[in-house]
Amino acid sequence: MTFLRQARWALAILLCAAALPAAAQVDPRTALLERAAFDTLNAGRAHEAAGLFHDALAGDPKNARLHLGAAAAAYLERRDADAKEEAERALALDATLTQAREVLGLALYRLGDAAGAIRTYEALVAGAPEETDAAATLDRWRREAELHDRMQQTVGSHFTVSFEGPQEAALADQAIASLDRAYWRIGETLGSYPYAPVPVVLYTAQQFSDITRSPAWAAGAFDGTIRVPMRGALDNPTELDRVLAHEFTHALIRSLAEHGVPAWLNEGLATALETSEPGESERHVAETHSAVPLSTLQASFGRLDGEQAQVAYATSAIAARRLLDEAGGVAVANLLRDLGAGVDFDTAFLHRIQRTFADFQANLF
Ligand SMILES: [Zn+2]
Repeated sequence: MTFLRQARWALAILLCAAALPAAAQVDPRTALLERAAFDTLNAGRAHEAAGLFHDALAGDPKNARLHLGAAAAAYLERRDADAKEEAERALALDATLTQAREVLGLALYRLGDAAGAIRTYEALVAGAPEETDAAATLDRWRREAELHDRMQQTVGSHFTVSFEGPQEAALADQAIASLDRAYWRIGETLGSYPYAPVPVVLYTAQQFSDITRSPAWAAGAFDGTIRVPMRGALDNPTELDRVLAHEFTHALIRSLAEHGVPAWLNEGLATALETSEPGESERHVAETHSAVPLSTLQASFGRLDGEQAQVAYATSAIAARRLLDEAGGVAVANLLRDLGAGVDFDTAFLHRIQRTFADFQANLF
C-alpha cells in the first residue's frame, strides 16, 4: 500500500493556475511556457512539467508562481527536498501564495519533519480558514504527533520500532525479529539493502485507519515509515511475517528508487516477496485468466475496492514473480535504480530485463 494524494493535489493547482492574473511585465514566451507547464502538471506529467518550469524560470527567475509549479512537480516526483526548496523560494517572493505553503507542509511531512509540517499548516490555516482540507490534515498531523510523543522505541540495527504502551514491548521485539528475517531474505534476493534504518510504527487498528486513512482492506502502509496495525498479530505470527515482509519490500524499493516505479511493479514485488510460494489469489487469477493489463495498474491501488484490489495485487505479483524468475533479483534491482534515476520505463526495461516490456506483457498470461 502506498499513498498518492497527487490527483487531488493537481486539481488544486489547476484552480490556482486558472485564477492567476496575467503578469504584464513578463515576456510572452515565458507566459506561454508557464501556461504549458501548469497544463502539463495538471495532466499528471510531473517530470515533463518540471522541465518546463525549469525553462520558464530561466527567463523569469523571480516569478513566485513558477517556483510554486516547480515545487509541486518535484513533490509529485517525490523529490521532496527539491519541493521544499522551491516552495520556500516561492514564499520568499510572495508570502501570500497559500498553495506554496501547502506543498511546503506536505514535503516537510514526507521528509519526516512533522513539527515543521505542522507549523507550516498552522500558518496556512490561519491565513486561509476556508481551506477545510488543510485544516483536516493539520488535525490529523497533530493527533499523530501527540500519539508518537507518547510512544516508546525499540532500536534494532536495521529498524526502529515505535509502539504505545509497555504491554506492547513483547510485540515490538517480535516485530523486530520478523523484520530482521525479511531484511536478510529479501535483501539477498534483490542483492541490495536499505542504506538507513527503516522507521516502523505499530498501531492499534483504530489509530492505523485514523492516521493512514488506508482503505479497510489494507494490512499495512509505507510512506517512508512502515505503519502496521497490530490486529491479533501475536496470535498469528505467519500473518505478521507476511505483512512486515511486504512493507519492508516497499522500503527497500524506495531506497533504490525514490520515484518512477509503476504501482504494479512496486506492489507486485512486495506481494511476491511476502512468501516463496504464490498465494491463493495469485493461483485463482492465473487459473481463471482474470488478470488485468499491467498498463491499467500504473497508479496507487488505494482507490480500488476490496475485490478489485485483490485482482490488482495478484496480477502484479504474477508479473513480478516472472521478472524475478526470468531476469533475477539483481536485474530487477537495477531496473528500479534506473527508474529512480529518471530513465524512461521502456528503455530501462529493455536494458535490464533484455526484452521489450510489450513482449513481456504479451506473454505473461
Ligand atoms: Zn503494498
